[in-house]
Amino acid sequence: MNFEHLPHPAPVPADTRDSAIADPGFGKLFTDHMVSIDYDEGQGWHSATLGPRGPIALDPAASVLHYAQEIFEGMKAYRLADGTMALFRPQANAARFNKSAARLAMPAIPEELFIEAVRQLVLKDQDWFPSVDGGALYIRPFMFATEAFLGVRPAKQYKFLVILSPAGNYFKSGSPAVSVWVSDYTRAAPGGTGEAKCGGNYAASLVPTGEAFAKGHDQVVFLDAAERKWIEELGGMNLFFVFDDGRMITPPLRGTILPGITRDSILTLAREQGLDVAEEMYSIDQWRADAESGKLVETMACGTAAVVTAVGKVASHDGEFTIGSGGPGQLTGAIREKLVGIQRGTVEDTHGWVMKLG
Ligand SMILES: *Cc1c(COP(=O)(O)O)cnc(C)c1O
Repeated sequence: MNFEHLPHPAPVPADTRDSAIADPGFGKLFTDHMVSIDYDEGQGWHSATLGPRGPIALDPAASVLHYAQEIFEGMKAYRLADGTMALFRPQANAARFNKSAARLAMPAIPEELFIEAVRQLVLKDQDWFPSVDGGALYIRPFMFATEAFLGVRPAKQYKFLVILSPAGNYFKSGSPAVSVWVSDYTRAAPGGTGEAKCGGNYAASLVPTGEAFAKGHDQVVFLDAAERKWIEELGGMNLFFVFDDGRMITPPLRGTILPGITRDSILTLAREQGLDVAEEMYSIDQWRADAESGKLVETMACGTAAVVTAVGKVASHDGEFTIGSGGPGQLTGAIREKLVGIQRGTVEDTHGWVMKLG
């Protein structure tokens, strides 16, 4: 498919942009352009454009506004030492996007088209790459139902957009270890949409996340909805638990956990290093008991936005406990370094995970 390039009447002046990308924060700064592709039943995907980023007109009856037919992805573009822009496992994001689409009764987008849209936009706006240490261009591809129709059935028209946000540290504190709140709310029930990356899951997580913030924590931990016992994941990150004998576990996906690409990459790297790693259910009571006995030495949270972060403190209605020293542990640091190294091209990529653009 050909992308029509629409000229930008007034891109951000270079000096304004350069001061903005020196301190981008997370998710509040955006680049000049976006990609837009439309879908109509019968016609399929059409009208791909790479043009100025700006507001979009929607009919007030657009079904996304009423029934939340919306999905998204989160990925990053990195700049390698030689200046080349690169993506990390974009095929995995494209495949997951289409799985989310299937669960939300939305059309699939060809993986090559998804990746091509991302590639063109990143190359177009690469001057927005943040100048801060650890910075990246955060990429947000998303799709939503645009058809004006209030009956309840899958829409017949959709829009796929990609926007870019120069990003620094995900956690405000930039702290070496985060503090988490175990919520009484649940995020995903068996048979629900927990494994789809859809806006609706996040809408339902805002009250529990707000509660965690109000209590002074950085993130919320969700337990399973059926037994309120098994640890599932954070609001937007997967979890790994590390024991004093070197063993490492992460909760199995079971349909209620978002299949993180960072999670999958860590499983691969850990197995390859000969670590004893398993996908295994782990209860909140065991988490506390193991942290208190010293059997559990580290807990790490992982996701594209923050990569790998140590969990230092856990709080719930039953009180608080600390993990290890409360700071980042050894294995968390080592895995983070390895993964970040592969993403940024300073550690050899033996899996073909890095896709160079340009
Ligand atoms: C996106 C996401 C993750 C992390 O997935 P990555 O592919 O590693 O970025 C974890 N949990 C939830 C709920 C998510 O939406």
